[in-house]
Amino acid sequence: MDFGLSNEQEMIIDSVKSFVEQELYPYENEVEKSNHIDETLAESIKKKAIDLGLYATNMPIKHGGGGLDTLTLCLIEKELGKANFGLQYIVARPSNILLACKGEQIENYLVPTINGKKVECLAMTEPNAGSDVRSMQCRADKEGDFFIINGSKHFISHADVADYVILFAASGTEETVKGVRKKITSFLVDKGTSGFSIEPGYKSVSHRGYHNFVLNFDNCKVHKSQVLGEVDHGFDVANEWLGATRLSVAAMCLGRAERALQIATEWAATREQFGQKIGKFQGVSFKLADMSTELHAAELLTLRAAWKDTKGEMTNSDAAMAKLKATETLAMVSDEAIQILGGMGLMDELPLERIWRDHRVERIWDGTSEIQRHIISRSLLRPHE
Ligand SMILES: Cc1cc2nc3c(=O)[nH]c(=O)nc-3n(C[C@H](O)[C@H](O)[C@H](O)COP(=O)(O)OP(=O)(O)OC[C@H]3O[C@@H](n4cnc5c(N)ncnc54)[C@H](O)[C@@H]3O)c2cc1C
Repeated sequence: MDFGLSNEQEMIIDSVKSFVEQELYPYENEVEKSNHIDETLAESIKKKAIDLGLYATNMPIKHGGGGLDTLTLCLIEKELGKANFGLQYIVARPSNILLACKGEQIENYLVPTINGKKVECLAMTEPNAGSDVRSMQCRADKEGDFFIINGSKHFISHADVADYVILFAASGTEETVKGVRKKITSFLVDKGTSGFSIEPGYKSVSHRGYHNFVLNFDNCKVHKSQVLGEVDHGFDVANEWLGATRLSVAAMCLGRAERALQIATEWAATREQFGQKIGKFQGVSFKLADMSTELHAAELLTLRAAWKDTKGEMTNSDAAMAKLKATETLAMVSDEAIQILGGMGLMDELPLERIWRDHRVERIWDGTSEIQRHIISRSLLRPHE
């Protein structure tokens, strides 16, 4: 494995780092307190990101994206992940599921999403279909050249700022060796389509300024040209996207954990109790040692998966291990960092309480820790079946 960076990669990472420190950090407190990102601020961040070439770095050059390799993308995610989630999200890395766009979809959805003119959200989860996403009840019934969509989705992130949704709906059933299962089709559905409505979701402990929504479809009529990928093969287009998303979650967690460790280290090196710096107490310094060791282990797993992905060799298990380890490490590091700061760790004077609150969702979305363990163990056991 070679994680050595070229001069160009180092320059890209440095410019993302400066962007995060200069354009995102200054607004964190405001967003944390108001739980809202002003539209003018969002537009200004987006414009600066586009001008600097930091927007859609994950998408192909031929469509106007940055065309960067997975390793560089992970290092970018790590820097962006240090900031408030809502603010860093503005620097879009569109879902690579959109690479399944064909024909007019390329000009209508893929290209405008890459150049910042449109924003997508993605809707799979339903109240009764979370980890078991294939059990979804949202239905798409074929009627001539159209599909009629009925059902609801919940927990759908940033549907407020999205122009369209990548929607997954059950389009039939099929017999398999394991019994009957639902066939899933993916659609591009524009906001404003008759029968498609959005309502506010739940208030979450994590991610101030970044909200989730409920999407309702009531006899929503969508032309067959809006199918993304092939009819009944919605999960085919989703599979590759899942690996990339899990790596991106892992990398963002590494960045946040690094920021928490840095705050805790500086605190331990300066805070005095019982006449000495608290970092002199092994009860504190050994925590720092464990946090740093776990963080490096998580980083190696993430970079290993990214390096394999660059060579086209990343397995589902590689991405699952990276996500599992990085998200659980962030949980441990942010909790121990608060312990090292004592009471001040819980106060909103510092970003630590926010990192601690925000970490919680990372072990749940894009596949819970248990689902990641399931993927990893399945890859071990399957050859023995
Ligand atoms: C803030 C937020 C934003 C989100 N954004 C989006 C979005 O934009 N689009 C979208 O489609 N979804 C989104 N999600 C949904 C997210 O992906 C789901 O929450 C996640 O997949 C888990 O589903 P669930 O919450 O229904 O939990 P469940 O699936 O009900 O799981 C409950 C518990 O059971 C465990 N469990 C379930 N099955 C197994 C199993 N086979 N083995 C062992 N344990 C198991 C789980 O690990 C978990 O601990 C979001 C969620 C949150 C919280």
